[in-house]
Amino acid sequence: MATSTTSPLLFLLAAMAVAALVTAPVSSADLPSGFAAITSKIPNPWSSFKNLTDCRFGEQQQGLGKLKRYLVHFGYLPESPAGFTDLFDADLEEAVKVYQRNFGLNVTGAMDASTVAQMMAPRCGVADVINGTSTMASSHVHGRGLFSYFPGSPTWPRSKKSLKYAVTQTSLTPFDQATLSAVFARAFARWSAATTLNFTETAASAGDADITIGFYAGDHGDGEEFDGPLGTLAHAFSPTDGRFHLDAAEAWVATGDVSTASSDVAVDLESVAVHEIGHLLGLGHSAEPEAIMYPTITSRTRKVDLASDDVVGIQSLYGGNPNFKGVTPAPASSWELDSSAAAASSRPWSALLAAVALTVGLLVALQ
Ligand SMILES: [Zn+2]
Ligand SMILES: [Zn+2]
Repeated sequence: MATSTTSPLLFLLAAMAVAALVTAPVSSADLPSGFAAITSKIPNPWSSFKNLTDCRFGEQQQGLGKLKRYLVHFGYLPESPAGFTDLFDADLEEAVKVYQRNFGLNVTGAMDASTVAQMMAPRCGVADVINGTSTMASSHVHGRGLFSYFPGSPTWPRSKKSLKYAVTQTSLTPFDQATLSAVFARAFARWSAATTLNFTETAASAGDADITIGFYAGDHGDGEEFDGPLGTLAHAFSPTDGRFHLDAAEAWVATGDVSTASSDVAVDLESVAVHEIGHLLGLGHSAEPEAIMYPTITSRTRKVDLASDDVVGIQSLYGGNPNFKGVTPAPASSWELDSSAAAASSRPWSALLAAVALTVGLLVALQ
């Protein structure tokens, strides 16, 4: 989404979020017990949004300018060459409403606790709204087909069923090549199992990769700079760009059980990889919280199984694999289990946290 040609694609993702309207409000989200404590203890790029809780139209408050820039990044507001003020104006209220629809929140237009929590959740850097259009709302109002495509529905050529990928930039990670190869092979296998596509790793030096994967820190030249732990976790470009970048600053977990990782902000690498590969193949974000293509994810959570929403979306682009066994029944994933623990609580922060948990879309790193 960084380049001028690809950025529009990113924005498209947001559209699907609209579909969320139909889905149960994320607010129900349950947050893992202790989530609140973690949230307050560990800063993330968007922690200051907490100060905007209950802020609404007509108010002037420090930090609203930053909120506007956040909404610009994910496609909800147009760029403003003149910069952004700290006034909660009509444009901001409308952008917040679209965001709330996309994530299944109550459409209040105000920064209620659930909305603040959702916005603070770690997520994919790809935009939810592309070219100002949130496509999710259109044909997805009845709870089915919440997936989305990039504008123009770009795909890899129909004749190209075998794609090569290479891990090209690993100097900023503690992982060896073999470990990374195993993680990405499993992630690609999730998609090849459901489609007629197949993926093969090739050496970076071979120069014949369709898809390149690398870890980068901060500004890395594509206009989509990374922001340190949490916040934006990764991003990928639509077909046939092939670039998939991960924020090297995340506490990535490549092996073992991420739910028991020592870091409170641990993020499961394979979970994020499965999501970003969806973008590489042409899928935008989904408003379905259980879908791999949902934009957010919580830390210390593993989410690697394609949901039926993901499968329908990808098979519509590439056809189905006759040997596909179907999606795994949506068992309570780890994050769902975690969230249930906090569901009972009704305090504002709990609700907020719950919302965050729901966001669990893609990248796992919340705190
Ligand atoms: Zn994404
Ligand atoms: Zn990048």
